[in-house]
Amino acid sequence: MSDDFDVVVIGGGPAGYPAAIRAAQNGLSVACIDEWRNYDGSHAFGGTCLNAGCIPSKALLESTELVHRAQHEFKAHGIGVGTVSVDLAAMQKRKATIVRQSTQGILALFKGAGVTPLQGHGRLLPGLRVEFTARDGAVRALQAKNVILASGSQPMALRSAPFDGKRIVDSWGALEFDAVPGRLGVIGAGVIGLELGSVWRRLGAEVVILEALPDFLPMADGQVAKEALRHFKKLGLDIRLGARVTGASVTGDEVRVSYADAKGEQSITVDKLVVAIGRRPYTGGLLADGTGVTLDERGFIEVDDHCRTPAAHVWAVGDCVRGPMLAHKGKEEGVAVADAIAGLYAEVNYKVIPSVIYTAPEIAWVGLTEEQARSSGRACKVGSFPFSASGRARAMEAAAGFCKIVAAVDDDEILGVHVIGPMAGELIAEAVLAMEYSASSEDLQRTIHAHPTLSEALHEAALAADKRAIDCLNK
Ligand SMILES: Cc1cc2nc3c(=O)[nH]c(=O)nc-3n(C[C@H](O)[C@H](O)[C@H](O)COP(=O)(O)OP(=O)(O)OC[C@H]3O[C@@H](n4cnc5c(N)ncnc54)[C@H](O)[C@@H]3O)c2cc1C
Repeated sequence: MSDDFDVVVIGGGPAGYPAAIRAAQNGLSVACIDEWRNYDGSHAFGGTCLNAGCIPSKALLESTELVHRAQHEFKAHGIGVGTVSVDLAAMQKRKATIVRQSTQGILALFKGAGVTPLQGHGRLLPGLRVEFTARDGAVRALQAKNVILASGSQPMALRSAPFDGKRIVDSWGALEFDAVPGRLGVIGAGVIGLELGSVWRRLGAEVVILEALPDFLPMADGQVAKEALRHFKKLGLDIRLGARVTGASVTGDEVRVSYADAKGEQSITVDKLVVAIGRRPYTGGLLADGTGVTLDERGFIEVDDHCRTPAAHVWAVGDCVRGPMLAHKGKEEGVAVADAIAGLYAEVNYKVIPSVIYTAPEIAWVGLTEEQARSSGRACKVGSFPFSASGRARAMEAAAGFCKIVAAVDDDEILGVHVIGPMAGELIAEAVLAMEYSASSEDLQRTIHAHPTLSEALHEAALAADKRAIDCLNK
């Protein structure tokens, strides 16, 4: 096998593997190196997202949402199911099957595209050389014309509550519990903390979420955050804001977590503690001396707007560089870099990256919040439409939440769209497309939406921005 490649990608997560496939589609010779190891010691492509993040969490969120609906909503449909039983082992097995299918699918895609998969460690050396250490310890020196770094991120640890892998775990550990903890503590009320808290709460755990910040979901639109907090409380998530964890000690089967809030020193005792305070870029053993690649003060690989590092022909994409740590952002960067290497048009529109929280109700947004739009100084108008006025949402017994659109007064540009409610993560795609094509809110108003669908809520929200909504009162 040749050790010379047009492109060597280090990292086979959602940023690296699409980069490798697109580069091969562009007629380049490509190798993709990945060292991911699962708990059982098996290697798999797909990185955090497929093995320990997006996919397993969504599998458990889906299963546990069904449990919740069977327990609490079926009755309203006139369906009686008696006592709903849960077989956690079967639920976890289903999740593992979905993960395995997804990660093995990458190998099939590589084969089809002609990418050489290399399982093991990659290290960038000066002169566009890459040292590859295979699983069996064999070392090969690869020569590349271009290198794409896609080494991802890892969970941040908290000095006051260090991981022990058993009682105090990270998000991956929290996806692998083999029994429902009676009492679960979660540190961090961000996206991951809320999703994991929802999973175990729906299965019966008493869940306390400790959040150091005084505000709930500060990155979301204020109205959405307020509505979300109400629903999470209804689910039984005990969310304590302004609660800074000061220590955690394991005694026997319990963890005592101490924290300080406005009332002073407090503590809770739980069976398991999940630390979900965020993720940081991972570049362990990635860069030899003299490569010319630099890291910023937070450990991110420094890149320009086109993902170029200061070293010629070395690029970096995904969680290991600035920007939101999201799989789809990394994917677009990876594909754009592979196109740029091939001399094709390549651009990532960072202004329209959607965010989704897969809780119930689901939360999704793109662009500016109302607060951000107003503080930008540009005059803006807002339209919203409640799902309680949507026939489809009511028929689904899922009428919580609303769609909200923020548009500019001067030229009617859509500045941001915010959805909390059923299928928000799917509905936001229309707003992303509209913003990508620089649509105005009037463009959305004049677009026919099928009836009865959830997407009519977005249509009506756009109409409401000009006080022309039909199916709700215009305020
Ligand atoms: C619980 C959880 C849920 C999430 N849910 C979502 C979601 O719903 N939607 C979403 O968009 N994002 C979600 N994320 C975030 C998402 O997983 C990341 O943004 C995404 O995985 C980043 O992709 P990446 O390719 O940059 O890095 P990673 O997925 O971390 O992949 C990097 C890969 O590179 C490998 N690697 C690193 N260094 C080397 C080296 N030197 N040699 C060889 N291999 C190396 C790693 O082993 C890994 O396999 C979630 C994350 C978590 C933890």
